[in-house]
Amino acid sequence: MRGSIPAPGSTTARYGGNTPCVEVRCGDERMIFDLGTGARVLGEANAGAPMSGHIFFTHYHYDHLQGLPFFSPVFDPRNRFTIMGPTRHGRAVRDVIVGQMQQPYFPVTAEMVFRAQLDYRPFAEGDRHPIGEALVTALEVNHPGGNLSYRVDYRGKAVVFATDHEHGTDRDRQLEKFAHGADVLIYDAMYSEDEYRGKGGPPRIGWGHSTWQAAAKIATRAKVKQLLLYHHDPARTDVALDAIVKQVRRLRPEASAAREGQTIQL
Ligand SMILES: [Zn+2]
Ligand SMILES: [Zn+2]
Repeated sequence: MRGSIPAPGSTTARYGGNTPCVEVRCGDERMIFDLGTGARVLGEANAGAPMSGHIFFTHYHYDHLQGLPFFSPVFDPRNRFTIMGPTRHGRAVRDVIVGQMQQPYFPVTAEMVFRAQLDYRPFAEGDRHPIGEALVTALEVNHPGGNLSYRVDYRGKAVVFATDHEHGTDRDRQLEKFAHGADVLIYDAMYSEDEYRGKGGPPRIGWGHSTWQAAAKIATRAKVKQLLLYHHDPARTDVALDAIVKQVRRLRPEASAAREGQTIQL
């Protein structure tokens, strides 16, 4: 599971080279957060079976929506999805995500190929969207152009998906409040503090991403039960990621780095 750009190859195969896509199941309800290139794999895992649910977009950087045209369930007329996401730069979720499928960027338009029933709805910070017994809420985090983190509450359990967030502003406090007591916090840990500050490369300050050290700090202040590092740098090899997991576990023994295809049962 990598951020920013897919990173296939033998050095990233263990944690996975696809970009963000997280599925949350609450009873019969299915929620999918972002359709990065991982969405293709999720669609294939469900090949042939009917599939419906809610899809939430955090924001519209390429790595979070490029899987849409390759998410096979949208080609099946039996399927139905409610697609939700923020309005950015005056453009609603449908306009932005379908807009990537046009010449000269893409060979076919969504109108030409999508067969599932798709309902598009705006979602903004402060909105509360019940889905069956689950409740989805959102918080703006610190990322260029804006970004929503999402929280799902269901029968006393909670998961927070906070990808693409740069630490170091008062948004951290709001995120800690938003994620308070969650069972799982999936958090942007693209860099180490050294990388972030420019040791051995360009400083990454202002690029919109966080560090594994900030991940541990925010998870602890928010009193979350399990921290999952996410949005791994595409240049980070699996071996380097193992070393980061070892270090973060000194601070939080339960912490781990998200792996493609990983399932967590709560
Ligand atoms: Zn990203
Ligand atoms: Zn982004």
